Amino acid sequence: MTPLFPAVREAAPHTALRFGERTLTYAGLAGAAAPLAARIRTAGRVAVWATPSLETAVGVVAALLAGVPAVPVNPRTGGRELAHIVADSAPATVLAAPGAELPAELAEVPRTDVDVTPDAAPDAPGTGPHSVELPPEPGEETTALIIYTSGTTGPPKGVVLPRRALAHTLDGLADAWQWTDRDVLVHALPLFHVHGLVLGVLGPLRRGGSVRHLGRFGTEAVAAELADGGTMFFGVPTMYHRMAEAVGDDPALGSALSGARLLVSGSAALPVSDHQRLTKATGQRVIERYGMTETLMNTSVRVDGDSATGSVGVPLPGVGLRLVDESGEPAVPADGESVGEIQVRGANLFTEYLNRPDATQEAFADGGWFRTGDMAARDPDGSVRIVGRKATDLIKSGGYKIGAGEIENVLLEHPQVAEVAVTGEPDPDLGERVVAWIVPADALSPPDAQALADHVATQLAPHKRPRAVRFRDGLPRNDMGKVLKRALHA
Ligand code: ATP
Ligand code: MG
Repeated sequence: MTPLFPAVREAAPHTALRFGERTLTYAGLAGAAAPLAARIRTAGRVAVWATPSLETAVGVVAALLAGVPAVPVNPRTGGRELAHIVADSAPATVLAAPGAELPAELAEVPRTDVDVTPDAAPDAPGTGPHSVELPPEPGEETTALIIYTSGTTGPPKGVVLPRRALAHTLDGLADAWQWTDRDVLVHALPLFHVHGLVLGVLGPLRRGGSVRHLGRFGTEAVAAELADGGTMFFGVPTMYHRMAEAVGDDPALGSALSGARLLVSGSAALPVSDHQRLTKATGQRVIERYGMTETLMNTSVRVDGDSATGSVGVPLPGVGLRLVDESGEPAVPADGESVGEIQVRGANLFTEYLNRPDATQEAFADGGWFRTGDMAARDPDGSVRIVGRKATDLIKSGGYKIGAGEIENVLLEHPQVAEVAVTGEPDPDLGERVVAWIVPADALSPPDAQALADHVATQLAPHKRPRAVRFRDGLPRNDMGKVLKRALHA
């Protein structure tokens, strides 16, 4: 069987990971992970206290080498959510950096320190062993990771991901992005979700390339790393939004972004206005991909393909994708505009929700199609345009089905609007009415509600006009910057 991480098995001498100033070659990574893998080999599952650190990467790689499921835990979570994850996943031990302070919810779980001795210098010759004794490669269906969903629409569910799904999705992305061992990823995402961990850490390791983690996101730090050898950047829309805001006054950022080989956005929709501002300032297009914890990646704009702004591209190799109507029948793409729920199948899919056979069963339609809960339309060239989530972004008003995202994009074009979320709320006449939640660009002079509604009505059909406009200082967002629409109405 091909190893999941060939360069780790070969204990290659070049740099794999850099977190701040601390680096590890593949040899150093193999050297740190091998004894840990031996220690945890008989554990049922291990939790990983997922701070952005070498220790988190080493802990996850050790678990993957040992064939023991790893459960990355958000170090900023606590209380009920953490208690739920601990009780649900029942880890035998928690892997953590020495000295990391763990919260009370983990007090009952035995701790295993992850010992890492960083390289003396990047690519230092002779660091680490040149061959290491590693356990045999586990089978493809062995659980690699159990990742909890973001909790955007309900309590997080533990998604059981086999090694096969990781390999499949990472190789599909490599094909779409021409991702190689020469790529150096600039990384500023957290490590407890698919985006930051699977794509951002395991992706470079599978290719034999490298990753540089900034610790925290900042436009200047991203610019500096891209100017200093970084080739790709993966970010969430809030990061690209900040770069779009900053790029006009920061020529260094502009030229760093212009010089990057690949800029990728995902986890939520990147507003059209941010796409346009970034392209105008840098000549680069930001590539969007679409995925979720349960399916890993489903579609992406290809570097060798065209795409309309705001499209999430075409299905990745080996991913089956269809749109279905409300009765579950495949939607007929009569005019390229018909909107349906995205269903997917392929080797990229999870096996089950942990301890939730009911939810697992509900999630699949006949034929192994996974119901994503996301609504989309398909362009004639086969590329997918996400309309939004069925549960929160599809507003049924006066007999129309209205996608929140389209209205959000139009409102964001208004100069007095900084952030926006559009939702539906019950209305006696219309069934639901369109509501716009607005963070004004200048809190002291918020835009006129009527003017905003008129702005929408001039750009879109009249029934898409917001019936109510509510001003807020900020929008409730989770760690990935996703708007928690549930919390708006609370
Ligand atoms: P929960 O399932 O707990 O409610 P969540 O769905 O936000 O949380 P994730 O699995 O992290 O948890 O996120 C997947 C979702 O993110 C997708 O179903 C989709 O709605 C959204 N998403 C991801 N990428 C994109 C994208 N490029 N454009 C629009 N939406 C996206
Ligand atoms: Mg979800």
